Amino acid sequence: MKYYSTNNPEHRVGLSEAVIKGLAPDQGLYMPETIPVLSTELIQKLPEMSFREIGYAVIGALFSEDLSQSQIKELVDHTLVFDAPVVKVEEDVYSLELFHGPTLAFKDFGARFCSKLMSLLLAGSEKKVRVLVATSGDTGSAVANGFLGVEGVEVIILFPKGKVSQLQEKQFTTLGQNITALEVDGVFDDCQRMVKEAFLDPELNQSLLLTSANSINIARWIPQALYYFYAWSRLPKTGKKIVFSVPSGNFGNLGAGILAQRMGLPIDYFVAATNVNKVVPDYLSGECFLAKPSIQTISNSMDVGNPSNFSRLIALFGGDESLLREKVKGYFYDDSETVGAIQKVKALGYVLDPHGAVGYLGLKDFMKENPGFVGVFLETAHPGKFHEVVEEALGLQLELPDRLAQFLKGKKNVLSLGKDFGDFKEFLKKLEA
Ligand SMILES: *Cc1c(COP(=O)(O)O)cnc(C)c1O
Repeated sequence: MKYYSTNNPEHRVGLSEAVIKGLAPDQGLYMPETIPVLSTELIQKLPEMSFREIGYAVIGALFSEDLSQSQIKELVDHTLVFDAPVVKVEEDVYSLELFHGPTLAFKDFGARFCSKLMSLLLAGSEKKVRVLVATSGDTGSAVANGFLGVEGVEVIILFPKGKVSQLQEKQFTTLGQNITALEVDGVFDDCQRMVKEAFLDPELNQSLLLTSANSINIARWIPQALYYFYAWSRLPKTGKKIVFSVPSGNFGNLGAGILAQRMGLPIDYFVAATNVNKVVPDYLSGECFLAKPSIQTISNSMDVGNPSNFSRLIALFGGDESLLREKVKGYFYDDSETVGAIQKVKALGYVLDPHGAVGYLGLKDFMKENPGFVGVFLETAHPGKFHEVVEEALGLQLELPDRLAQFLKGKKNVLSLGKDFGDFKEFLKKLEA
């Protein structure tokens, strides 16, 4: 399979290059040049298959030209080590719980797949890969835990000192092994700038193999399609039309759902649900796409003013923007509406996190306007991950899941760094190739 750049369909590369480079040289996103369609017989059999069996079939359809059967199995088995249950919240409304992984958010799926794929593609190569990540919290924890102990890959995380919540910080500063955390005396933008400069530095790139693992990488993007297949297969067969509502920031997760649909999964509609960072809902309602500075909200993993996967959404509809606007409906909510949803759904016996709450609201509004659907919203994080917000909304104390509580006990181990690129470069130069 070749992968083309969304900025230039003539620019095509193989799987290794797409994964190791992450972004095309023209800054476009890589997309598979053909999207394989699964047979109707296979789709009908999904309800009898396990999550991993579904994984072998879907990943096999996309990667079998580039990977052996046993590599595909290894990749899927490494990724799907936790479940993604579909939980009924009320009549015709289901929560797809994507938070049962090590860092309690859906990014665990992509990070685990990405790390394993990189190590498979680099097996036998002399060079060690260094994954450089700038994080304001969530990405660092998912990538660090996803890459922990993976051979041939070392992760270097830059985070702004004092700007990351203690719980998030502990999830990537206490691991050791192949994970190094650098505490930068600056803000997130300094971390991001230092990482970008490192990728552009000829001297460093001559001796070291540097790569990124952010959400634009196909190795993080594609595996997210798996849980759409799985969730669809576990819904009761009512004959009703099906809609998935995706709480979105950079729109990788929603794009992966559309990829699943393109591969033959019978999903009828998607809801793009956001907080007040509503660039995409505005676009879907007919306005031009206009990136804006991000606004801080209580669903802060979706505080994105310039969604990085947007060009993928258009590519998935073959450039037909009116079809995109017809099949994907946008909704946005402010913080008080989000809190209201957390309270309302608690009365139904289910605890939402602020991101899932936005997804729930979008789903309900879509279903009000379009009766007769069964709907699924993606619950992208465990409510305990955002316990301050949820506890304040509900006026009660949440019990932290064991995995989170364990992180808090770990000992923080970081190297301190100024915000000059020169200091970071010195650090990198001391690493062996
Ligand atoms: C990253 C994240 C999102 C947004 O996902 P995108 O793929 O960027 O749209 C939503 N919820 C949570 C909890 C996240 O961590």
